[in-house]
Amino acid sequence: MSAPQEPSQAPILHPELKAADDLDAIVRGGRRLDHAEGTSKPLRPQPREKQPRGAKVHGARPIDQAEAAARFIAAPEHEKMHDERLWDLRQKRDREMHLIPEWEELRSLASASKEHTLTHLDEYLGQFEVNARSNGVHIHWARDAAEHNRIVHGILKDHGAKSLIKSKSMLTEECGFRPYMASVGIEVIETDLGERIQQLDNEDPSHIVVPAVHKLRTDVADVFARTIGTDPGNSDVHYLAEAQRDATRPLILAADAGMTGANFVVAETGAFVVCTNEGNADLSATVPRLHIASIGIEKIIPRLEHLAVFIRLLSRSALGSPITQYTTHFRGPREGGEMHVVLVDNGRSERLAMAEFWTSLKCIRCGACMNTCPVYRRSGGLSYGATYSGPIGLIIDPTFNAHKYSNLPFASTLNGSCSDVCPVKINIHEQIYAWRRELVKRHEVPFAKKAAMKAAGELLSRPAAYRAAIAAADVALAHLPRFVVYNNLNAWGRGREVPHPPKQTFHAWHEANRGGKT
Ligand code: SF4
Repeated sequence: MSAPQEPSQAPILHPELKAADDLDAIVRGGRRLDHAEGTSKPLRPQPREKQPRGAKVHGARPIDQAEAAARFIAAPEHEKMHDERLWDLRQKRDREMHLIPEWEELRSLASASKEHTLTHLDEYLGQFEVNARSNGVHIHWARDAAEHNRIVHGILKDHGAKSLIKSKSMLTEECGFRPYMASVGIEVIETDLGERIQQLDNEDPSHIVVPAVHKLRTDVADVFARTIGTDPGNSDVHYLAEAQRDATRPLILAADAGMTGANFVVAETGAFVVCTNEGNADLSATVPRLHIASIGIEKIIPRLEHLAVFIRLLSRSALGSPITQYTTHFRGPREGGEMHVVLVDNGRSERLAMAEFWTSLKCIRCGACMNTCPVYRRSGGLSYGATYSGPIGLIIDPTFNAHKYSNLPFASTLNGSCSDVCPVKINIHEQIYAWRRELVKRHEVPFAKKAAMKAAGELLSRPAAYRAAIAAADVALAHLPRFVVYNNLNAWGRGREVPHPPKQTFHAWHEANRGGKT
């Protein structure tokens, strides 16, 4: 046995790679290859998978979610990454949940607190208004998206503001705020990294918490190369984040006004609370002298003590982390500054009056239902062609436009996982099912689907006819030519093989073995 080498004499490379008698060494043309040659792939540029784009939107025509989902699924790198990334969030959420023994109690408290507040909305909003005004805040009320945009524009005009930095807000997406501001010549700069990526790529957010989650790092590198001049071949996350910071920071420092949303509004104190992980809402609110907060009226909670329940649930449900990095209470304007709060209805009062759907207003926008949904994970948020995607979107979107979003409630397996993870106990899958019934009543379901469902209903309600149909289908599947089974009428068979029919149906087996008795 040879004596061990002193550290100073040890080869720099791992000994196996240099050993002359290494039987596993890669040999090409009688010459042993060194480590780099042996393990590297040839330097041939690989074509990148193009990022699938979202649903095609044609005015008020129904969104074809299935068509956009098919394009997303046809991009396997994106689909796999999206599915795994969101499932990872779901698993982290589960781990955090199991560390809180009183988790179910918190969910019940949060749900009860929201239901109480929603049924006393006028009282608590009035209380908030009085307290916020006494804190020196200007309060505005907006009936709809157009009024919201006009109010904010008016405030900016009064201050001669030409640029606005803002933190992520689904409400402003709902209001079409950025396009409106562009039309009146005001520059809007998103400060949340994911949202800024989406803004630069001229895309909507695909997820309510992680807006660019559907993009690969290489997609982001392409967007930044195009818009802020980074190296298109460098998709290192630190490089990209730093480049974005360098490009945006001067715009933030020079902005005339700042805008935030709010996660919670506390009636008792007249304050509102914003939770972020990047601290960007704090920048938006405190760098310029003028701070405008756009807030949906359902965000109100009665007292500060209720906040603790929601704060414990929010980040754990959203990202599987115990708390967001920044949880800021805004109570009044900074010294020498001005604070405006715009309380927005935009269809919320109407939803509150909908017996089957009003509890969707309890939503705290954590995204947990999206992270767990098998349809959402595999089709991407942009396939829904709406501000809100995933299970909660299937309930909210048709309240804005039942015709345009009439296909969405069918983009669900109704497995109930969304309801199980929802921190405020919204019965999401039941509301999705209720929307399906409602859409049939409103004649918003295509004739072919309606006819097929009616026929299936007739068949399933007649056991003898059902058994005869199954037996006939088994024979047909075994003998029919392939083109008869696999054609455009068979949506199931377009992406997969129809399973081979069993030799014996379960009913026949049961008859033979159990005499039909249970
Ligand atoms: S419906 Fe529930 S799970 Fe989905 S985003 Fe809202 S609060 Fe979260």
